[in-house]
Amino acid sequence: RTRAKHTHGHSFAIYDDYLDRHSRTTAALEPELWRALQKEEFCLYYQPRVCLKSGKIIGAEALIRWQHPLLGLILPDHFIQLCERSGLIVPLGYWIVEQAGKDIRTFQQTGLEGHVSVNLSFRQFQDDYLVSSLERLITLYPSQPQMLEFELTETALYTDEAHVIQCMKAISDLGIEFSLDDFGTGYSSFSMLQKLPISTLKIDRSFIAGIGQQADDEEIVRTLIRLGKNLNKNIIAEGVENEQQRAFLVEHDCLLGQGFYYSPPVTPAAFIQLLNQQSAATAL
Ligand code: C2E
Ligand code: MG
Ligand code: MG
Ligand code: MG
Repeated sequence: RTRAKHTHGHSFAIYDDYLDRHSRTTAALEPELWRALQKEEFCLYYQPRVCLKSGKIIGAEALIRWQHPLLGLILPDHFIQLCERSGLIVPLGYWIVEQAGKDIRTFQQTGLEGHVSVNLSFRQFQDDYLVSSLERLITLYPSQPQMLEFELTETALYTDEAHVIQCMKAISDLGIEFSLDDFGTGYSSFSMLQKLPISTLKIDRSFIAGIGQQADDEEIVRTLIRLGKNLNKNIIAEGVENEQQRAFLVEHDCLLGQGFYYSPPVTPAAFIQLLNQQSAATAL
């Protein structure tokens, strides 16, 4: 970097930082993102969803990656917001569902049971054709509706709650279940949670990270688990990173989780390998 050469005060450094953060990483990326979709540079990784008692894989979450020809693998935090702002998330979102449908078929053939979840953005609900497009997509992949699940965060409800709930109900009627992502970080009330056609709550990983560290976080985790149980929801812990967290969760009756303790998100081929290893181990 040549920044040090031309600093008059701090102004250039600040300008450089601004450019780093804004133009190079966002504005300049926008046309590239459309090109990337056309060139099929996006791919889905899968993180196993695991039974915290037995370690058995009982599902997965699909997480998008951008395989950039020069920059390598780019994580969604660097481009999803931009896709939302530019509207690209709508066509990209359909690509994700279709790709997940193809992958689900292969995973099923490898013996996967349970759900494969796909993250839905609030922005996708602003597309008038969301429900009809999903309906068309799932007829192409008949195994999809029972195994596919959509994750959404509470922020999806903030713009037009009534419309989003109506879409969610129509999608549920197609046989696709919903889970609430990053549970505990938003403003959901009891009554809101009851109104939503949601079968699963995913406890945000920020609370799981506090297990064994922060008494407050442990109390929050216990409370979220109890709340979910009282509302008859399945509960999944995200970001399980160690044995202490796993044991705490099982002790408090949260029996499903995902996290680096088990596996990071991996390619479909690597996920199939994990499934095969598992069936080989149980055959012994
Ligand atoms: P999310 O849906 O809450 O996904 C979980 C994120 O936590 C993933 O990051 C995953 O790699 C990470 N993670 C999993 N286990 C652990 C762990 O044990 N420790 C830590 N520190 N992190 C863990 P990723 O893949 O970078 O995704 C980030 C976010 O990007 C997702 O958060 C989701 O909001 C969004 N996203 C990812 N894929 C898609 C997609 O296909 N569509 C949409 N609309 N959003 C997506
Ligand atoms: Mg998610
Ligand atoms: Mg999450
Ligand atoms: Mg999260």
